[in-house]
Amino acid sequence: MSQGWHHERLYDHWQQSFLVTKELHRSEGGLQEIGLFETPGFGRVLTLDGVIQVTTGDEFIYHEMLAHVPIYAHGAVRTACVVGGGDGGMLREILKHPGVEHAVVVEIDGGVVDFCRQYLPTVSAGAFDDSRAEVVIADGVEFMRATSRRFDLIVVDSTDPIGPGEVLFTESFYKDCARCLTGEGIVVNQNGVPFLQGQEVTDTYRRRKPHFADVGYYLAAVPTYVGGFMALGWASKSARPRAETLEAIRSRFERDPIPTRYYTPEIHKASFALPKFVQDLIRD
Ligand code: SAM
Repeated sequence: MSQGWHHERLYDHWQQSFLVTKELHRSEGGLQEIGLFETPGFGRVLTLDGVIQVTTGDEFIYHEMLAHVPIYAHGAVRTACVVGGGDGGMLREILKHPGVEHAVVVEIDGGVVDFCRQYLPTVSAGAFDDSRAEVVIADGVEFMRATSRRFDLIVVDSTDPIGPGEVLFTESFYKDCARCLTGEGIVVNQNGVPFLQGQEVTDTYRRRKPHFADVGYYLAAVPTYVGGFMALGWASKSARPRAETLEAIRSRFERDPIPTRYYTPEIHKASFALPKFVQDLIRD
């Protein structure tokens, strides 16, 4: 940080900067360096090893789209697994659905969970105390390789493919995810910004293709993940969930309504429309 600005240097040719009104906390010496600061435009900002993870201003977009799109598409999610997601925002959104009976968060860094519960409580908003929630501190890859559990939904809410998150972008992990899904199960993940991380989009698509019936992407515009639309990865054991009509999604949303600020059934359907340059990244 210099002169009251936090510079995020995720890319070697481009950076984004936040005016910091107050540095709130910093935790070093754990698996990752955790930082938290206050900004005028985005509220509280959480960083891991200097990279933005969550801002209280726009986290709702990311969390709603990774949770509600697969849940309403599937229609009967009862068991869910969040890989990563130590801030608790994804758990919060998943547990808004009364049909979800159990959700486990598999987070590699227990320090993130403790830090966020203490200093960023509005993100999990009590979700960790829900009787349906479980937290396992483990590497998501090891967990998925060893577990005999089955999930209707797996959300990979990870850091980018650098550091501990790198293994969550490998073919063997996706293969294990496919094994751990129920009949019409779905795995979604954050897959970076196609304009800047196009190779990531191509690689993930190719690594998943052999293991799922339906593989693709949908999009969300999250201001802090700069560079245009963010790609959210989609892979499912059946083609049915993605093909659900707008009418079917609307009727589920009306039957099981939840409060949202970004997600609507119309956004749900529209988010699967990909610009040509993104389609070109995943041409077979
Ligand atoms: N929304 C965020 C983003 O895209 O920038 C992700 C936020 S969430 C805090 C990411 C979490 O993934 C971190 O807490 C990190 O510790 C966790 N993580 C990274 N690699 C992991 C792994 N191999 N297994 C489980 N969790 C992992």
